[in-house]
Amino acid sequence: MSLPALYIKLKEALVKPGCPVCRITREAGIRYLEGLLYEMVNDPGTREMLEASWGVCQAHARELANFTQYSLGIAILNEALLDKAIKLVRQTLNIGLESCSPLIHNFLLRKRNPASAGTRMAAVLESTQPCPACRIEAETTGNVLHELNFQLAQRDPQITALYSKSSGLCWPHFRRALSLAEDPAGIRLLAQVQLEKMAALQSELKEFIRKHDYRYLGEPWGGEKDSWIRSLKMLSGWLLG
Ligand SMILES: [Zn+2]
Ligand SMILES: [Zn+2]
Repeated sequence: MSLPALYIKLKEALVKPGCPVCRITREAGIRYLEGLLYEMVNDPGTREMLEASWGVCQAHARELANFTQYSLGIAILNEALLDKAIKLVRQTLNIGLESCSPLIHNFLLRKRNPASAGTRMAAVLESTQPCPACRIEAETTGNVLHELNFQLAQRDPQITALYSKSSGLCWPHFRRALSLAEDPAGIRLLAQVQLEKMAALQSELKEFIRKHDYRYLGEPWGGEKDSWIRSLKMLSGWLLG
């Protein structure tokens, strides 16, 4: 993503609810998965990469399940992955058991470590590449945080105003932003706004808790009604969904 495009994305995400970094990161992950689904059936390089990572991680497999229009592509990929898995398990089973002589096997049993051959087999079945969508998301997160820090350090009036009015960052992205920031004034601004947002959320949680007291049960719910969910997302860095 070019820098002007990132600047625009950041501005758009800052006016929406929740952590803007989570939002842009998740959107980038979904866009990447969509491109991957489109390419993988015809592109041997993409298929090779997905074989090295054993497809995608659990979180991105959940995302893939939403792409029902690409069910055939997913079936083709997973059939190939299962084919590779079956062949590898057969190979490693033979090699693993052969290399483990009865003498060694008995020794391992005495050592209460009979899984040693299995551990060796498991190592062969490990992925050699990380989930490609996670890799893209990590890159996007770094780029967005760099852009936010840069604009806050520059006192960009639009980003500064939008960030001040935004929901703030989630806790993991706030810590990451701090670790990447260098400009003291930018760090102060980043932290001051974040403190305001966290204090406001804490007040909402207190109100949520207060209204569960039997003495105030009749009071109508306000904006604090979903604060417990927002606090889960804020503290965990739960990508918006
Ligand atoms: Zn976040
Ligand atoms: Zn992933």
